[in-house]
Amino acid sequence: MSRKLPTVEAETLYDALMNAAADAIVVIDEQGIIRHFSDSAQELFEYPADECLGQNIRKLMPEPYHSRHDEYLRNYRKSGQARIIGIGRDVFGLKKSGRTFPMHLSVGEAWVRGQRLFVGICHDLTTYRTTLAERASIEKLQHALLDAAVDGIITINEKGLITSFNAAAEKLFQYNRDEVLGENVKMLMPERYAREHDNYIRSYLNTGQAGIIGLGRDVTGRRKDGTVFPMHLSVGESEQDGRKLFVGICHDLTEYKSVLLRLGRAERRYKDIVQSQRQLICRLDSQLRVTFANAAFSSLLGIQQKDLVGISLTTALEDEQRSPKSALEALFADDPDRQEINLKLAMKTPNRETLVDWTFRRMADSEEYGRELQGFGIDVSEMEAALSQARFLRSHDQLTGLLNKRAFLKLLRQMPEQHSQFAMLHFDCERFASINQRYGYNIGDLVIIEMAQRVRNCLPSLGLSARVGGDEFLLALPISASGDVPAFAQQLLNSMQQPVQVQELSIPLSGSIGVALYPKDCDRADDLSVLAEAATRRAKARNELIAFYDSHDHALLQQELELEQGLKTALLNDELDIYLQPKVRLETGQVISYEALVRWPQPVNGFIAPARFIPIAERSTLGQRLDRYVVRQVAALIADACESNQSVPPIAINITASHFSSQDLVGFLTQTLRTYGLPSSAIELEITEGVVLEMSRTVSTNLDRLQELGIRISLDDFGTGYSSLNYLKNLTVDELKIDKSFIDELNSTKGTVLVSSIIAIATAFDIDVTAEGIETQEQHELLTQMGCNIGQGYFLGRPLPAREYLYGRDTVSP
Ligand code: C2E
Ligand code: MG
Ligand code: MG
Repeated sequence: MSRKLPTVEAETLYDALMNAAADAIVVIDEQGIIRHFSDSAQELFEYPADECLGQNIRKLMPEPYHSRHDEYLRNYRKSGQARIIGIGRDVFGLKKSGRTFPMHLSVGEAWVRGQRLFVGICHDLTTYRTTLAERASIEKLQHALLDAAVDGIITINEKGLITSFNAAAEKLFQYNRDEVLGENVKMLMPERYAREHDNYIRSYLNTGQAGIIGLGRDVTGRRKDGTVFPMHLSVGESEQDGRKLFVGICHDLTEYKSVLLRLGRAERRYKDIVQSQRQLICRLDSQLRVTFANAAFSSLLGIQQKDLVGISLTTALEDEQRSPKSALEALFADDPDRQEINLKLAMKTPNRETLVDWTFRRMADSEEYGRELQGFGIDVSEMEAALSQARFLRSHDQLTGLLNKRAFLKLLRQMPEQHSQFAMLHFDCERFASINQRYGYNIGDLVIIEMAQRVRNCLPSLGLSARVGGDEFLLALPISASGDVPAFAQQLLNSMQQPVQVQELSIPLSGSIGVALYPKDCDRADDLSVLAEAATRRAKARNELIAFYDSHDHALLQQELELEQGLKTALLNDELDIYLQPKVRLETGQVISYEALVRWPQPVNGFIAPARFIPIAERSTLGQRLDRYVVRQVAALIADACESNQSVPPIAINITASHFSSQDLVGFLTQTLRTYGLPSSAIELEITEGVVLEMSRTVSTNLDRLQELGIRISLDDFGTGYSSLNYLKNLTVDELKIDKSFIDELNSTKGTVLVSSIIAIATAFDIDVTAEGIETQEQHELLTQMGCNIGQGYFLGRPLPAREYLYGRDTVSP
């Protein structure tokens, strides 16, 4: 309760208060008439005091207060109660200008001289309201900004309770704002972070230090459904109304992490591909230093991948002299025509020499390394080795390493450019096939290798040598005079004829050498080898060891070769005819058998005599073919004649020596007889003494088997060969044919003695005797007297085409 002042003092103080007060003070009476209007009221309502004093307070009020105020006062006067008294209230005032404005009004009641007065204190709220509005719009803006943000923005207070939660945060954590405001932020964290969070905040508040403030960090967030996701969290600190506030900005890393993961996978995949390549891959910087090397490259060099980086490629080269430095450096230049080069480089590798076929390509500039070259290399060492081996084999003999014939002749063609004369020597080993047969091919090979070595040893440095057949060698050597050659040939022969020592065996060798001279024998280097080979044949034919080429012999040989070729064709084309010559019982003139004699008809000159071509056939492989041809033809003739009811006596077929020593002979004969439905007795065989001389196991087996089969065998041309009567005792032949040369001698005593002794011995061994080449009546009679039963010869019957005998006569009358 305040002490009352004396009236004058009170009034002075009242005025001072009225005018000093910042708020407008307006005093009205019970009727609402303005009794006092302070200076600040004049300022606020923009009225001078005299325009308001005595006026109703409503003047200062806008609607609805303006209309209602009288009623308020009436009510108050009646009830003594006014809601406004003692309480402040926000209302609106009306300025003189007609503008309304907000103001806070507090009303008090005062009794002055018995009169009730109301004191209104008006506080202009215009500025306050504006500030409030501004604040509201800032907040709205803030919210809009927050909600527009892509990142989740969450504010929490010191207790960790969420005070704001923007739209992005709603989306991110899948919570509605209402669900999280006021809740502990731990709800947005997985268990392991949540447990620690309170401690973090506490310690931060105590120490003012937190690892996270001002820094970003990758953490894990937890959604409403409990799922977790990676996010980047940056936390800032702020203050509001004196209290700490933490702002967290959450950036979702799900997509980023998955892209990162995909990138990582892609990179790993790419690395795997590059690393697992067998090919060599590297990158080089502009100094040619390795910036990348794959596993294959590193293992080739025997240097770990990490150690390889930084090393200059040139230091990894076998031969730094032949460095590709400048070629590679040139590749770095911006030349569109030169983006790539190919280089074969020998690399320094631990175990072996390695040749790498590199392709270097200029790459697009990169931030980290600038311009680089990418190298892609293939280890071609083995391929190169194989290629050079193949190249070698193309020109060399695999077994001996000597030149082959093709390469030899190629080099030979160049010889005349350097040497005016040279000799060609051809060495042919004798019966090498028997070495193979006896000791096997492995030993045979070793013998050939040794022979090749001997050839090499003999050959002068400027000479050439080649292996041109199984056991044949050619040598070409420059000569000053042809006189050198026989000595050289002899020396070569001596060397070649030394026995070869192989695996404790001592294998004897023999052979012949043929020699031809350039330009004496031939001025075409190419043909010289043919002439030397011809000379070797000449040596063999004459039983000599060394023979020089002779043009006359060569012409004969040439004819022989032509004949051989012609015979081959004739056999293929069935051009040979079969003639028959009868064998006749001398006493009766009865034909007891025929001999088949082959004829080779010629378009112009009759036919070529068998004496010319049979020896050639025998020397080549044609003998057997010829024999078989005749056997088939004869079998066919007999079969045909039998079909025509002709009685056909046996037909004797001549069999060459080499064919008779073949294991297939008996099988072939029985097969042919079976094919034509003939008995063994339909044919006979004539063999020469050459067969008997050989007398190998096959020959004697063949003789035995033929006898078992019942095929008669005659020993042809008996007496001409080397043989003697001695072997007859061991022979299982059925007939001897005394050669014509003995029959021709029958006019002399010596001849008569010889023939009669042959007849006597044959009779002693129980072998039939046939006389060949009976040309005269005398011979016929003499032979009959001497006890020779059978004869053959022009006097008894000339060889004629088979059909003439088979379909004509069966006896011969001389
Ligand atoms: P070869 O087996 O001694 O045959 C007898 C040869 O004497 C035949 O000569 C025959 O025509 C001939 N000749 C027969 N009688 C007389 C005569 O009174 N006077 C004269 N001057 N010659 C007579 P050809 O046919 O020229 O046969 C020569 C040799 O050729 C044959 O001697 C035989 O060794 C061989 N030859 C003939 N044909 C064949 C055949 O088909 N196969 C085989 N491997 N050799 C055959
Ligand atoms: Mg004969
Ligand atoms: Mg004969």
